[in-house]
Amino acid sequence: MSSNHIETQAIRTQIERSQYLEHSNPLYLTSSYIFEDAEDMRASFADEKDRNIYSRYSNPNTSEFIEKICKMEGAERGYAFASGMSAVFSTFAALLNAGDHIISSRSVFGSTQTMYNNILPKWNISTNYFKINEIDKIESLIQPNTKVIYAESPTNPAVDILDLELLGQIAKKHNLILIIDNCFATPYLQQPIKFGADIVIHSATKLIDGQGRVLGGVTVGSEALIQKIYLFSRNTGPALSPFNAWVLSKSLETLPVRVDKHCENAFKVAQFLETHNKVNLVKYPFLKSHPQYELAKKQMKLGGNIVAFEIKGGIEAGRNFLNRIKLLSLSANLGDTRSIVTHPASTTHAKLSEDDRLQTGITGGLVRVSVGLEYVDDIINDLNQALN
Ligand SMILES: *Cc1c(COP(=O)(O)O)cnc(C)c1O
Repeated sequence: MSSNHIETQAIRTQIERSQYLEHSNPLYLTSSYIFEDAEDMRASFADEKDRNIYSRYSNPNTSEFIEKICKMEGAERGYAFASGMSAVFSTFAALLNAGDHIISSRSVFGSTQTMYNNILPKWNISTNYFKINEIDKIESLIQPNTKVIYAESPTNPAVDILDLELLGQIAKKHNLILIIDNCFATPYLQQPIKFGADIVIHSATKLIDGQGRVLGGVTVGSEALIQKIYLFSRNTGPALSPFNAWVLSKSLETLPVRVDKHCENAFKVAQFLETHNKVNLVKYPFLKSHPQYELAKKQMKLGGNIVAFEIKGGIEAGRNFLNRIKLLSLSANLGDTRSIVTHPASTTHAKLSEDDRLQTGITGGLVRVSVGLEYVDDIINDLNQALN
């Protein structure tokens, strides 16, 4: 019954049905599971049996969700977390030792950046950065204690593309673990393991849920690496709740059709913005004008749902634009059915120095649109009236 097609992998799993022969996988709200007898209990705790013991370790709903992501990403095994950030933190905490060193892309999610600056240094774990167009400088950053290369592609919020295959080659050559946060692409548009990633992380809160309801995260990779992450996590407790796992597994069933439509709408929005005289620059991976257009075409099935553009007139123009928006939401989320606009320079990235902002491609007039599933002309009309 197994199939290689990602649309089928997002829907079908080998679920065991109860006596009711339900078609859709039910929600298992149970914190623990019972044993037949003393021997069953002993063998289960000795890891001699592959079964549920306690929902901090595993649960049928989280297992179903993980199984789908693993198949879609081409990974051997995974673990599901309460949020994207608990996936990022637990992955670092499980794989790194005190005193280790990370080489990271400069353009990473804000909380990941905060982790590098304020949290990992507690264990003397340090980070050096490379810019998105300076992957060739990574080798000069490697130290004897370097363990990990970490990157996102496409990046937030500037929608730049990193060469995953090149990153994979460098990681392999120096025996480093390549971790890719694949949140913006989803497992449907891009599978980093094909290009040499060892670990793939998702915030499932974004396009995987896709309807702005639940938080979730997942890390997938090889059996050996995930075993370390599993042992760390089953003892420290960042597990995804069964309810959220059930929601997310249902969401995956429609991920391919939703993302197809998100990308179709985003491409039209990007094309419209390119023609507007108040717009300096539009960044969308599948626009020919994108600096890494060829790379995006190689790595991704479609261009994703995030469009970044720069309004003429800098930070004030960006804020004025947001105040004139009527239909779209001003919200911190992305990947929702509802389109969302944000102005990174005055919000998510306001705490950075202007120099640090510019290093990650965030100019004063940069606006990020998470293009949703409303009728595309309604989205375009709202952006148009706010620009004019
Ligand atoms: C949102 C996001 C995260 C964090 O995920 P949460 O579910 O909010 O904890 C990590 N990486 C990227 C790229 C994100 O967009």
